[in-house]
Amino acid sequence: MSLSQGRSYLAIPGPSVMPERVLRAMHQPCPNIYEGGLIELTHSLIPDLKHLASTSGQAAIYIANGHGAWEAAVSNVLAAGDTVLVLATGRFCEGWGEMARALGVTVETLDFGNRATIDLAQVEAHLAADRSGRIKAVMAVQVDTSTSVLNDIAALRRSLDAAGHGALLMVDCIASLGCDKFLMDEWGVDLMVTACQKGLMTPPGISFVFFSDKAAAARNAMTRVSSYWDWNARINPEYFYQYFCGTAPTQHLLGLREALDMILEEELRHVWARHEAIARAVWAACDAWGKGGPLAMNIADPALRSHAVTALSIEAPNGLNLRRWTEHQAGLTLGIGLNMATDDDPNADGFFRIGHMGHVNAQMIMGTLGAIQSGMMALDIPHGKGGLEAAARLLAEATRG
Ligand SMILES: *Cc1c(COP(=O)(O)O)cnc(C)c1O
Repeated sequence: MSLSQGRSYLAIPGPSVMPERVLRAMHQPCPNIYEGGLIELTHSLIPDLKHLASTSGQAAIYIANGHGAWEAAVSNVLAAGDTVLVLATGRFCEGWGEMARALGVTVETLDFGNRATIDLAQVEAHLAADRSGRIKAVMAVQVDTSTSVLNDIAALRRSLDAAGHGALLMVDCIASLGCDKFLMDEWGVDLMVTACQKGLMTPPGISFVFFSDKAAAARNAMTRVSSYWDWNARINPEYFYQYFCGTAPTQHLLGLREALDMILEEELRHVWARHEAIARAVWAACDAWGKGGPLAMNIADPALRSHAVTALSIEAPNGLNLRRWTEHQAGLTLGIGLNMATDDDPNADGFFRIGHMGHVNAQMIMGTLGAIQSGMMALDIPHGKGGLEAAARLLAEATRG
């Protein structure tokens, strides 16, 4: 027998759950792209997006997934022959670096592995040693979705300053914007990329590049920028189509408008607090389960954990079996492990991730944790007692705070 009929939950770290409000807003005939409401609606997105990023800088919209925003960012400020420093804490910043390399940029990588945050002393030393200013930009991710590490971007800024280095600070917030606190201007970030399908609760397809005056100046010093990725026309469109270098992503704009309204209604600080409370409930359950079995969170220090996604190990083949069980028996799709082992490694089936970003509330997370516990019972995976109890207690306490 299967118990999977009913509303399913896609608890992977993106795409996240699409709210009914977002889906309903999208479900209408295609609006006029030459005049009328869609144009006003698009103008209205920009200040709200900047509010989410806590910046008074610029925001450009791209019809693309996160990889497109990566390429847009690189294309505007880095030319072939320039050098970037990639701070790898998992799969994602490496991927951004690979994209830069494909465009002729020289990539230097400091790799901190899959279970740790950026070693700031190493970054500072590397930058301080760059007396000729060869490094034009530093690339980091706030939350690496493969490892679920949360990097301290404010502290990274201080390391650049301490090294007296003028590199652009470029940050990937694709998994973290609208989930984990992020203050672009206060933290001195020059360029930030994000996408709509994670904390922003909109189906995959649009992404964003935010940039400071310093990054704008770097763009304007470039001798050539691909006209599709060029952000100058997009931030200052004389004609509506220039926002997107072509036809607007009509339904996505309607959906995003609704998602931003939902975030503004809840208030960003409450959105962050909800993500934190839900993450803490997940961690409490995992801590309890881990005391009596193989389950362990990838990031040991809670201060270094994302509030949007939790990466776990549970010994092969338990990761694969548990994901299959929750999907087919309970209507819960968990995330695969990413970057933790190569496909031919026998340990590859020993990992999974829980996405808890965006449109997630207390009952959804208790359902998720309950399904995981049922799965461990059904599959005879040893685990400690009291996981659900611990999670429920933390959620109860959070509502008192
Ligand atoms: C999801 C994600 C990406 C890639 O986004 P796509 O939309 O899949 O291209 C990049 N970086 C981070 C941190 C992500 O979480």
